[in-house]
Amino acid sequence: MTVTLPEPFLARMRQMLGGGYEAFVASYDQPRAYGLRLNTWKTDSNPAAAERLHGLFGLEPVPWCKTGYYYDEETKPGRHPYHAAGVYYIQEPSAMSAAELLSPQPGERVLDLAAAPGGKATQIADRMQGQGLLVANEIHPARAEILSENIERMGIRHAIVTSASPGELAERFPRYFDRIMVDAPCSGEGMFRKEPETVLEWSEQAVETCAVRQLAIMQEAVKMLKPGGTIAYSTCTFSVEENERVIGQITHLHPELSVERMERLWPHTHRGEGHFVAVLKHRGTYDTDESGDRPPFPSRPAKRGKQPSSGAAPRKAIESAMREFEAFAADMLRPTFRLTGGEAVLFGDQLYWMPTADGAMHPDMLRGIKTLRPGLHLGTIRKQRFVPSHALALALTESDVTRVHRMEADSPQTEAYLRGEALPSDGKGWTLVTVDGWPVGWGKASDGLLKNHYPKGLRRPN
Ligand code: SAM
Repeated sequence: MTVTLPEPFLARMRQMLGGGYEAFVASYDQPRAYGLRLNTWKTDSNPAAAERLHGLFGLEPVPWCKTGYYYDEETKPGRHPYHAAGVYYIQEPSAMSAAELLSPQPGERVLDLAAAPGGKATQIADRMQGQGLLVANEIHPARAEILSENIERMGIRHAIVTSASPGELAERFPRYFDRIMVDAPCSGEGMFRKEPETVLEWSEQAVETCAVRQLAIMQEAVKMLKPGGTIAYSTCTFSVEENERVIGQITHLHPELSVERMERLWPHTHRGEGHFVAVLKHRGTYDTDESGDRPPFPSRPAKRGKQPSSGAAPRKAIESAMREFEAFAADMLRPTFRLTGGEAVLFGDQLYWMPTADGAMHPDMLRGIKTLRPGLHLGTIRKQRFVPSHALALALTESDVTRVHRMEADSPQTEAYLRGEALPSDGKGWTLVTVDGWPVGWGKASDGLLKNHYPKGLRRPN
């Protein structure tokens, strides 16, 4: 589909860009750029296979993101088994700029307020190196499911996935997060080349409606920022109303925020679809700033060897579930795999390892907040039996486990596994199934066959 740009949009861009306008319009006749971002803990754990990715997909570095690469569209990395193994995330290159500028650090408490499908959330998680707490939130339930799947696929251990409105979260987490990503819903002017049908939804009224909503979302985000903390506000749109004006309004309403950086990536000056990012910093510190509310759940030290009672299940049930997990772990997992920085929680028969941010997060804090994933899903407790989850498989490396069924990416076995078929095997018991060293799921071996435990919803059609 060729893009026919609305006249009022062109008039606005002409006014905004002046001399750059002709080059901007000409960029719509250029092919779009395709990008992926490497999942560094997976690539670092398997460097030889990771090295081959460059030739396989024709990777070229994205200048503003160390882990980002342009790929050759013909190579279709989204369909490769490595995608199912969470080795990379397909992401529009200019969108990679926002999490880079937010610069989350290991050990921090970070919120991604509008996180689906998960490009920025998975990038944030990667930068945090599995340490600290990431709350990835998406207001729309169906999109939150996709976000949750992507968090799982990338093998992220320290994320909680919620589906709440910004207001609901702000009530629960006042002055709580070190860093917040607000990748706001916008009029999507930067999507016109990538998804030409989005042009049909654009109008000047839509720009104005988005701007009002963006300011409202930012108002809630600010309430959740710790004094001294950082917010990155980003959009994939060009309008001043949705970008500089929102930043002007929010800093006017909150003089405690200063603008640290404001960047625009344009499709005619950068190889990407375009993005706006502003980084705002709260000037205060916890010591000096005494105004406003305190978090309703003050930080408390983590208690070793004792599970606090969960909002979801009594302590006894959690302890019994952990015994099942530990029996599984004694057989299947090596000491290199350690559950750290969290506590076990049980939702029904589902056992999770919740990141607790040094005691600042505990299960009661999620009461009443729709939570799709309260941490790393370890597995299901079924009649005193532990069934490991897909998320656990994706969060492991080959060296963490005692039994591995190894396959090669281009082998018919891999295709068969991803279709949900059983494979020949002379092993016994739970087995981690890997593709060129990267886990893709579980199998359970007995009587010469490896029963397929790749989730039904992810299986590829015949
Ligand atoms: N950050 C995501 C990523 O990198 O993959 C993309 C986020 S997208 C630009 C904006 C998201 O905001 C959408 O998933 C949309 O459902 C969500 N959204 C829509 N209305 C919202 C609202 N009122 N408050 C918060 N989020 C909203």
